Amino acid sequence: MYKNLIKKIKLIPLFCMALILNACKDNESTIACQVDGNKAFKYVQQQCAFGNRYSGTEELKQTTEWIVKTAEKLGYQPKVDAWQEKTILGDTTFRNVKATLKGGKPGKIIVGTHYDLKYFKEFPKGFTGANDSASSTAVVLEMMRVLKPFAKELSTIEFYFFDGEECFENYSDTDGLFGSKRAANKIIKDGTVTDYKAMVLLDMIGDKDLEFTWSIDTNQRMVDYLKDAAKKLGVLNKVKMLNNLILDDHVPFQRIGIPAIDLIDFEYGEDNQHWHTGGDHIEHVSAESMAIAGNVANLMILAISQED
Ligand SMILES: [Zn+2]
Repeated sequence: MYKNLIKKIKLIPLFCMALILNACKDNESTIACQVDGNKAFKYVQQQCAFGNRYSGTEELKQTTEWIVKTAEKLGYQPKVDAWQEKTILGDTTFRNVKATLKGGKPGKIIVGTHYDLKYFKEFPKGFTGANDSASSTAVVLEMMRVLKPFAKELSTIEFYFFDGEECFENYSDTDGLFGSKRAANKIIKDGTVTDYKAMVLLDMIGDKDLEFTWSIDTNQRMVDYLKDAAKKLGVLNKVKMLNNLILDDHVPFQRIGIPAIDLIDFEYGEDNQHWHTGGDHIEHVSAESMAIAGNVANLMILAISQED
């Protein structure tokens, strides 16, 4: 009996202990630690197996189909938005996937990730994009599973899987952030921008040595939500401000006036040595880091949903 109890306690991840010891509101404590890092890790493996899945490739199309199937298995009705744009590789087809969880609270929240791989003329040996972008894609799928039963307590959540975050050459008005720009423009065209309370983006959150950053221009309210969630999970030491601006898929939403935050660990290995190199490999991705990222984001979403 005693041994069993010890075993059970050991199974609770350390980062959840602080939360359990803190007096938490009911929904918080039930949502708090449910993201399964091992499930996310399997999702990373499945994505990496598709190969060089950069925008416009058959490999990425297979990844799109895999996201759609996985979302359907989770009880969603995902929609694919496909379009073409000129890139240095010629006319390129992009595909965003969006899955909506209709909530019982007012407003909408976007949860985003990109799922395309960085293009290289010559791919670095060993580069699989396990962290950039399979890890955040995996975590968003896990968040979809965990949040679904709590829909009544949430604003309507739009889960976005963006294509074309990576630029082919250099970021410019016509290169990079293809999918997020497309989605933000649609919101403007539809005239629904005021429906949106927030946008939470996840990117590169699988590093073993996880440290989230937010860029200096982030809306203070969003930073407070992040710190509060991290504190409740006992991982406040893993979040800090990056004394810099970050260009990522949150920017097109920020530009149209939606409070947005990018949860990104922009130090992948020492001095970011694994970023866009052969070091971006499954062996450098951690199930526990993905669980922390997903749980922090889930608590943020629950809190933002309670706003009127
Ligand atoms: Zn990248």
